[in-house]
Amino acid sequence: MVDSIVEAILLAVTKIPEDTFSAIRKAYAEEDNEIARFNLGNIIKAIDIGFADRVPVCQDTGTVTFFVEAGVESPFLGEVKDWLIEATRRATEEIPLRPNAVDVLTGRNSGDNTGRDVPLIHWEPAPGDRIRIAVLPKGGGSENCSALAMLTPAEGWEGVRRFVLEHLKACGGKPCPPIILGIGVGGGADYALLLAKKALLRKVGERNPDGRIAKIEEELLVEVNKTGIGPMGMGGRTTALDVKIEVAHRHPASFPVGLVVQCWANRRAFVEIKPDGRVDVWQ
Ligand code: SF4
Repeated sequence: MVDSIVEAILLAVTKIPEDTFSAIRKAYAEEDNEIARFNLGNIIKAIDIGFADRVPVCQDTGTVTFFVEAGVESPFLGEVKDWLIEATRRATEEIPLRPNAVDVLTGRNSGDNTGRDVPLIHWEPAPGDRIRIAVLPKGGGSENCSALAMLTPAEGWEGVRRFVLEHLKACGGKPCPPIILGIGVGGGADYALLLAKKALLRKVGERNPDGRIAKIEEELLVEVNKTGIGPMGMGGRTTALDVKIEVAHRHPASFPVGLVVQCWANRRAFVEIKPDGRVDVWQ
């Protein structure tokens, strides 16, 4: 099991998913700004090298983050956490990953990407006997541009739009555009951010199944690209490859908006552990 989870981490950090890579190639083909084309060309080269040589596409291999849908009838429930931690240690050494887990008081690096509550593991019980794990190694530069807004209900969706656009303009090139935006609306402060991060697991181009939300995703994507921030913040047509919105019901007095920014290194992979011990890994 640990081998398969290491394989998923390797896949995530060395191979950008095809949906994301084709969106980057499309942006390159449609770009007429010379500097933006240069930046997109370099990103495409980094992705090609990562895939060909099986090396990470970016030196910041991120904080290893797992979303676990834990089938309550799986015989492996008690072991999964240990496997995830062990796989993170082994991946750090074998791939290798950059050690990115430091103590908050001393700044001391654990050296193996593990530590207090790291790797980050989000658990969700699910019916059935399978365990599905989503691997999302999340870069620090883009994570630093994530944010929360506790809007008033009167501000509503127009407030979401204003918050997202103003925040992204302030961030400029810091999150390494072209970016993918995960936006969570509703729940509470914590849940809005969790929804926003989970939204990043959807493929680029995959719309929210609720047509009303899908329409807002498409409109916001157009507006983000009109900012002209462009690849690496140096101008151009493509600032974002996609916008993903997930929603939950909210308190009548609250309108929480979580924004999680993902860079062009949109790393993800999936593992499914079946009850007989067979494992699938895919992207
Ligand atoms: S934000 Fe993304 S692309 Fe930029 S340095 Fe961090 S991981 Fe790499």
